[in-house]
Amino acid sequence: MFKFIIAGNPNVGKSTLFNSITKSSEHTGNYHGVTVEEKSKIVKFNNESYQFVDLPGIYSLNCNSFEEEVSKTQLLKSNNIIMLLDANSLRKNLYLCLQLSEMNINYKILINNYDYFKKNKNEIDVNLLNKNLKNEVEIVNAKKIKLQEFLKIIKNDSVFSSNYNKKTEIFKKNEQNLNNLENNFNFDYLKKYINLVKNKFNLTDYEIIHALNGDILPNLQKKQEIFDYIQQILPDLIADRYKFIDNLLEKAIKIKSGFCYGYSKFDKILLNPIFMLIFFVFTFFASIYIIFFNIGPLFSDFLINIFNFLIATPFLNFLYSTIDNIWVIQFFEGGVFSSVTTVLSFLPQVTLLFIFLGVLEDSGLIGRLAFVLDDFLSAFGLNGKAIYIMLLGFGCNTVSTMATRSMNTKELKIKSAIINPYFSCMARLPIFVIIASAFFSKYAYFVVAGLYVLGIVVALVMSLILNKTMLPTKRNDFLLEFAPLRGVEFKRVLKLGAQNGLDMLKRIFGVVLTVGIIVWILSHTKFNLQFTEAITDSILFFFADKISFLFAPIGLNNAGIVSALIVGLMAKELIVSTISITNSVNTNSALISSLTLSSSVVHFTPASALSFLVFILLYCPCMSNMAVLKKEVGGFYFAFATLSQLTIAYLMSFVVYLACTKGAMLSILAAVIIAAIVASIIYISKKIKHPKCLSCNKCK
Ligand code: GDP
Repeated sequence: MFKFIIAGNPNVGKSTLFNSITKSSEHTGNYHGVTVEEKSKIVKFNNESYQFVDLPGIYSLNCNSFEEEVSKTQLLKSNNIIMLLDANSLRKNLYLCLQLSEMNINYKILINNYDYFKKNKNEIDVNLLNKNLKNEVEIVNAKKIKLQEFLKIIKNDSVFSSNYNKKTEIFKKNEQNLNNLENNFNFDYLKKYINLVKNKFNLTDYEIIHALNGDILPNLQKKQEIFDYIQQILPDLIADRYKFIDNLLEKAIKIKSGFCYGYSKFDKILLNPIFMLIFFVFTFFASIYIIFFNIGPLFSDFLINIFNFLIATPFLNFLYSTIDNIWVIQFFEGGVFSSVTTVLSFLPQVTLLFIFLGVLEDSGLIGRLAFVLDDFLSAFGLNGKAIYIMLLGFGCNTVSTMATRSMNTKELKIKSAIINPYFSCMARLPIFVIIASAFFSKYAYFVVAGLYVLGIVVALVMSLILNKTMLPTKRNDFLLEFAPLRGVEFKRVLKLGAQNGLDMLKRIFGVVLTVGIIVWILSHTKFNLQFTEAITDSILFFFADKISFLFAPIGLNNAGIVSALIVGLMAKELIVSTISITNSVNTNSALISSLTLSSSVVHFTPASALSFLVFILLYCPCMSNMAVLKKEVGGFYFAFATLSQLTIAYLMSFVVYLACTKGAMLSILAAVIIAAIVASIIYISKKIKHPKCLSCNKCK
């Protein structure tokens, strides 16, 4: 089997190339940091197997983020590397190639995005470039290239061909190779830096070249001193590397004067912060309205009607006519089908929201938003990059927690991961919409929009607190670069939306169905294991009832509500189905009506409904988020995040409930007490030392 690594700077088209040659549909996007972990696929062609690996974007071997670390590790140990460059940013893209050449790592250069380059009347002399780069450069179109065409390019290349014939993946890379620096280029500048380091430390050329490229070998003594010294000389080395690249590119490319990649005439308006913010806030909330209150529900009803017509109704009719065991019939009606319709009802919304995010990303708007918001977010200890994570969070907190790897430093990453669950994910929306529609009829949309705003405010305040205490970040490592404005490729965005929707369906269907069935059984079984139609006699109720007093201060001391909150810890999607099962209703409209009736098992007053919504917004989003969070930030910050989510949810619900039931004065008093508690927590957390190895260079 032949293994090929596809590497390069962010946003040059690596995932597009990977998708084209492997016929996959991995997420591509007109934004930096879309691929945060490597993706791999094996394909067969002419009885031969080929493995392709798509690496996260990397600018330089002196890494600035986790995704870069992932790529660097692969680049240093792999062979058959394909460096994909963007024709429009060759100077910047070649920096990484130069570093690989310095380390005598072979690669094949492919140039992408040539259509945009040519459209702007720029020119490349490929023959001269080949000569200068000592690499058989090829121009490709990552969107259109087929596997066969790709393999033809690769097989003909001298970098791979000798290797290819021997059917081996391994290039010989050893110290002798590295000592022969003239192999690729004449790196006069590098010799100067090797000598500088040699004067200070007793190291071999091999060790120094690795160190200059951010790879201090593990067996070296005085690692920290070497690291510090290299940091000192790095700016000059970077400047010399760029001089070298400029020489290589001289005459080989002609850039039309005034051409600035990525910048378009619309940017004069779009990069105006006031315009961009108004435009974005309006677009975002209008889309939420359309997706969740306008078009989305029509699609949901349509899907549920089809399901009922084709499957549920005929099956239940069959049961009614063949068996007279009410338990079995109710089990299917209330346990199984109710869970299925919960998932179906929110599938179209999920898909539409992903399509909306896809449009924002594909058009290049997210990059501009990151630029415009960089200053604002820096005030809260974040940077512009965080906006992409936040927007992903509105889709799924688990996905966005994984995307925090694209943040530049560990502090930024941990901070974004901790605040990320406060951005309300889609799984919370069905319950928001149902409760808000039941109690705040024509103001329902504003209640839901208000919850979103509350989540954002809590997240930003939390980030500010973390920045002032445990996770301070200096301003600002954000590497500003935005992708060109593009016409949205609707076919691709629709496909991506549908794929994300289906992925979500796959991920949650099993758990919603399983937990739905368990909840149904627990809520319809007595302690003596007899079936009961009265949920109040059930096992679930017994336990929920025992702890419901804890929720009395926030108006939620109802065993049905407490059961829903417990189940919601697994996944927020389950809350609607749990309450439907508990109230013995099958449709969303029946559920909405049941919630206002005091005779229903789960019912609310407007005050407790609001408190419930705030609690759902702010407490832990789901099991999968917790698992990913723990993996990404470690036990200490995971415990901190989980405890703070539960505490904040409880305290905010308490203030809201108090304000609704006892008036503003008492709630202001409560808010003051809470602020005092928060201030003491900040004071205490200032004393908490970083867990070891957080980010200091000594621990690196
Ligand atoms: P990656 O970050 O390097 O994996 O880049 P992606 O594959 O996500 O692509 C970034 C953007 O560039 C996407 O919007 C692609 O549709 C677009 N793109 C990729 N290749 C080309 C190309 O050859 N021409 C043009 N115009 N756009 C491209």
